[in-house]
Amino acid sequence: MVPCAKAPALVRTLLIGGANPDHQDVWGVVPLSMAAMAMMVEAVDALMEVGADPTIRDADSMTPRELYTGPAVSAVINKWLRRRTGESAPLEDGRACAACKKTGDDGVITRQCSACHTVYYCSRNCQRGHLKEHKPHCKPFSMDNTVILRPNYDSGNTSHVPLASFNPVLSQLGVYMPELRPSAHRARYAHPPKTFPKDYVIKVQLPVTAGQPTLPMLVYSKSRNFECRIRREDAPAAYDRVAQIVRKKGFQGAKAYFVAQLKSENELIVKVSEVLADQPF
Ligand SMILES: [Zn+2]
Ligand SMILES: [Zn+2]
Repeated sequence: MVPCAKAPALVRTLLIGGANPDHQDVWGVVPLSMAAMAMMVEAVDALMEVGADPTIRDADSMTPRELYTGPAVSAVINKWLRRRTGESAPLEDGRACAACKKTGDDGVITRQCSACHTVYYCSRNCQRGHLKEHKPHCKPFSMDNTVILRPNYDSGNTSHVPLASFNPVLSQLGVYMPELRPSAHRARYAHPPKTFPKDYVIKVQLPVTAGQPTLPMLVYSKSRNFECRIRREDAPAAYDRVAQIVRKKGFQGAKAYFVAQLKSENELIVKVSEVLADQPF
């Protein structure tokens, strides 16, 4: 299979036409693995939608889920696994309008619920129309459901650690995997924004803790225009509470996504009561 721009549409067409989503080739590889390895998120989405099984082993004894394919692919697979069990999590479809389901790729998402920050809208009309449905689920930021973290923007020792080394599976195996695509973007030092307050969907990534349980956590937004470290010594109780939630409810106990508001350069309010669906970053 050669990945190309038309491939996701082709996958969808084949599936609608009755193609078996779990067809294994001579090496036992299923279409889901091919799509995941090529990082074709839409094709993965289409396959999962029609019930593809991410636990089928190929001749190498690997399953689609076990391939290291990055956060965008695993977010989609996990979204569908949750849906199949009847569960859901906030921001499951990323920044899609909660009312009309339009996505924000073309910049149409202009509003969010200012109380809970976990739903987005494309227009005032959509927000008004959705009010009744949203009201019972709307949990505003409060003392009880938030934690105040103290961002640190020093580049420090950990800022150049490749993200892959945070992968608990790889790190347990002692595998050091360099950045696949080193870029100036990634290499930039952590920094605060210029205006406050700022609302973000943040990713909290725990450090590999073997022997050093108090290394800083890494926190960043999708575009990485906000990125900081959270050092335990700056606010131990807050650090411990967030770390505990990530370990318990996060993906592989190593990362989790939350809504957060940066009140000032050194005050990040994280709404810990809701762990968001995995986001594609
Ligand atoms: Zn809308
Ligand atoms: Zn709300």
